[in-house]
Amino acid sequence: MGGLGVCARCQSSVPAERLEYGATGDLVCASCSAVSLQRSHSQGEGLTRARGMLIAGLALGGMGGASALMAPAGLNFKLLAWIDTAGPAIGWGIRVFMILVGGGLALGGWRLLTKAAKA
Ligand SMILES: [Zn+2]
Repeated sequence: MGGLGVCARCQSSVPAERLEYGATGDLVCASCSAVSLQRSHSQGEGLTRARGMLIAGLALGGMGGASALMAPAGLNFKLLAWIDTAGPAIGWGIRVFMILVGGGLALGGWRLLTKAAKA
């Protein structure tokens, strides 16, 4: 009896004879099984993403922080000039937002990188 099976990874229904045991011991379809074989490759992609998160976070948070330091002197980045046009409260809200989001991104990227280094 052929019948359909469900891939444990992508949840798609495939003919039962096309299911195989993947690296995790679950029954997965052929394409998911191929993906799990390339895990070392996707780990490298994850590292690239973590590095990107760290850099983007530092850039965003750093820009927000620098803008906050410049604001009392009435200065701002040309790129960020628009944030004060809606009023100083909005401008400060956006600065704080940039610092928090940038800090969170950088921290997340940093944690992923240090976790990968320990593994
Ligand atoms: Zn699958």
